[in-house]
Amino acid sequence: MKNKTAATGAYVFCIANQKGGVGKTTTAINLAAALAVLKKHVLLIDLDPQGNATMGSGVDKNTVQANLYEVLLGEVSIAEARVRSDAGDYDVLPANRELSGAEIDLVQMDEREARLKMAIDGVRDEYDFILIDCPPTLSLLTLNGLASATGVIIPMQCEYFALEGLSDLVNTIKRVHHNINPDLQLIGLLRVMFDPRVTLQQQVSAQVEAHFGDKVFKTLVPRNVRLAEAPSHGMPGVVYDRNSRGAKAYLEFGNELVRRMKREGLKLASRAKARR
Ligand code: ATP
Ligand code: MG
Repeated sequence: MKNKTAATGAYVFCIANQKGGVGKTTTAINLAAALAVLKKHVLLIDLDPQGNATMGSGVDKNTVQANLYEVLLGEVSIAEARVRSDAGDYDVLPANRELSGAEIDLVQMDEREARLKMAIDGVRDEYDFILIDCPPTLSLLTLNGLASATGVIIPMQCEYFALEGLSDLVNTIKRVHHNINPDLQLIGLLRVMFDPRVTLQQQVSAQVEAHFGDKVFKTLVPRNVRLAEAPSHGMPGVVYDRNSRGAKAYLEFGNELVRRMKREGLKLASRAKARR
């Protein structure tokens, strides 16, 4: 697994949107699997006490030896708590209901928003991508995610009020960037559960493009029942039915993200040169 040097380390991306049920977990699982298809080494961190990313990766959240809660308390390391998703070909740091207690326990701890980042430091160099599936809140758990990340990917549905909800999240990202984590940036917005036949969705999609420009990923993830069925089989949709429209969209999204990171990486390198 050790193919990254200490100088580079993994891209750490939060999949976040404080709105519930917008496709965060579906995106986290299928992006992890799509990146694994591209031979990337991926760790998926389940930051949600619902444990959906864990179960959807084919890992039983109720029988795991350790979970993210113990990692945040500093009782075990990520290397000890992670398990393999055989279905998805990536590693999972599992979560379950125990994690809901972390909100309360963390409040009394030193560096309470930096606990996850400290844990990630121990495995950062083993991965190309570390994806964090955030809960639908702007809680202390989500703050731990944002404090650990180099970027945020926002899955969104093109519905009425979508833009309004986004401004809260974008402001939170800006605040975390200024106060806690200067590495944090908005990587992009991914339109999911998209139905081009619905005029309102087309309109909102155009508004999002006008407002966020380049930050909107070109890939559109359609509403596709195979993606919704896959978790009950303990598999990413990308693996469950690789030829479905939903799977193809997430595979394309994986490609688009890798291309984008290469492009941005080159930009960073040329900026570094220019400064010298
Ligand atoms: P929460 O806020 O509760 O964590 P979430 O944002 O993680 O929710 P998901 O659990 O990924 O959202 O998706 C919500 C529901 O929509 C799930 O039942 C999921 O299977 C379904 N779903 C997600 N994406 C798609 C899609 N592209 N097509 C069809 N169904 C989808
Ligand atoms: Mg979720």
